[in-house]
Amino acid sequence: MNAEILSVGTELLLGDIVNTNTQYIAKGLAELGINVYRQSVVGDNPKRLKSSMEESLGRADLVIVTGGLGPTKDDLTREVAADVLGKKLILDEEILRGIQGFFDQIKVTMEKSNRKQAYLPEGALAIENPNGTSPGILLEEGEKIMILLPGPPRELQPMFDNHIRPRLKKYGQGLVKSKVLNIFGIGESTMEAMVDDLMEAQDNPSLAPYCMKEGLILRITARARREEEADAMIRSLEEKVRERLGSYVYGTDHESLEEAVVEALLKKEYTISVAESCTGGLIAAKITNVPGASRIFPLSIVTYSEASKNTLLGISKENLKSHGTVSKETAIAMAKGIRKKGGTALGLAITGVAGPGGGTAKKPVGTIHIALVLGDRVFHEEKRLLGDRNRIRHMAAKHALNLVRK
Ligand code: ATP
Ligand code: MG
Repeated sequence: MNAEILSVGTELLLGDIVNTNTQYIAKGLAELGINVYRQSVVGDNPKRLKSSMEESLGRADLVIVTGGLGPTKDDLTREVAADVLGKKLILDEEILRGIQGFFDQIKVTMEKSNRKQAYLPEGALAIENPNGTSPGILLEEGEKIMILLPGPPRELQPMFDNHIRPRLKKYGQGLVKSKVLNIFGIGESTMEAMVDDLMEAQDNPSLAPYCMKEGLILRITARARREEEADAMIRSLEEKVRERLGSYVYGTDHESLEEAVVEALLKKEYTISVAESCTGGLIAAKITNVPGASRIFPLSIVTYSEASKNTLLGISKENLKSHGTVSKETAIAMAKGIRKKGGTALGLAITGVAGPGGGTAKKPVGTIHIALVLGDRVFHEEKRLLGDRNRIRHMAAKHALNLVRK
C-alpha cells in the first residue's frame, strides 16, 4: 500500500502554522510500514482542494486528509470529499446527538453551523473524536481508502493512534524502527568519512547523518517483519558505528549532552563545581536542567570580571595580567580555584571571547579555553568556534560539558 497526506488550510500556506499533522501522520505510517509517496498542502479553496484530492486518489491507495472539518464556511473538506467520490451527504442522527451532548457538557449553546459536522458521505464510517465536535471520516471506494481528520493536533493525534493505526496495521509491509545516535566533538565530514562504508554498504538497516543545531546525529533505520528483528538489526549496526566513533557518541534518541554528563558523574560518584566567564552560567543552567543534578553539583560561580576572578577564585592580578583572562593558564587557575571553593572532586572552568567585539589577532572571537581539574590531573582544551555570540556561547558550554564526559 502507498499513501499520500494532504493538509488543508490557508494558514499553512501562509506559514502561520507549522504542519505538524503531516509530520505526525507520516511518522505513524512509516512505523506501520506504509510508504508515503507524497505530502501536499492546499488552501481553503474548493476548486483546488477538489483537484488535489482527485490527483492524490488517482496516485495513491490511501489518502489521509487533515483539516477543514470544522463548522465554519471555510471548512470544506467533508463537502469536497463527498463531491469527489460522488456521494450524497446524509445526516447521522447519532453523531448529531453526540455533538449536542458535547455542547451540553461544556454548557455552551450549540450553533446551527455545528449541524454540518453531523453529515457523513453515504457509506462512510465515522471515527470518534473525544476532544472535539467533528468526527473523523473513513471512506472506502473500491481499492482506495480516504480518511478525513480534523485539523487541531490534540484532536487528530489520539484519533490517529486509537482508531486509524489499528485499522491500517494489516496494510503495512512489516514495520520501520529507528534509533538516533547523538554525536559531539567532530565535524560532519569527519564523521561521514569514519562511517562512509557503513552508509554505502546497505539500505536496510540504513544509516543517515543529520547536522543538528549544536551537534550531529546518525539515524539507524531498520525495516523488518517483526519488532525483535528490527531491534536486532539496529543493534548490530549500532555496535559497528560505536566501534568507529568511540566516545564521540554521547547518547541515543532524546538524550542530551548534559544528561549524559550528569549520568556519568553520578555513576562515578564525582562531584563538580563550575566557574564560568564567557558562558555566563549556561553550563550551570544545562547541568541543573537534569533532574538529580543536585547530588553532584553544589556550586557554580560566574566570574565575569578580572576583579571577581581575583577575589572569588584567588587568581593573582599579576597572573591575570601576564597571561590574559582568555588563556590556558587562567582557565586552569579558575578550575583549581572553584574546585577548592566547592570542595568537589572536579573543577571545571571556561573563559573565552564570545564576540562580536574583543577579538585580537592572537585571540580572535571564538577563542575558548576550557580546563578541568581532577586531583592532580589537569585537562585543557582550546577551541576556535565560529558563529555569532549566541552560538559561540552555547557551543562553548557544550564543549565544556563534553570535556567532563570524556
Ligand atoms: P476546527 O473545528 O477547529 O475548525 P478543522 O478540522 O476545521 O477544525 P482547521 O480549521 O483546518 O481544522 O484547523 C484548525 C486549527 O488546527 C488550525 O488553526 C491550527 O491551529 C490547527 N491545524 C490545522 N491543520 C494543521 C496542521 N496540518 N498541522 C498543525 N496544526 C494544524
Ligand atoms: Mg476549521
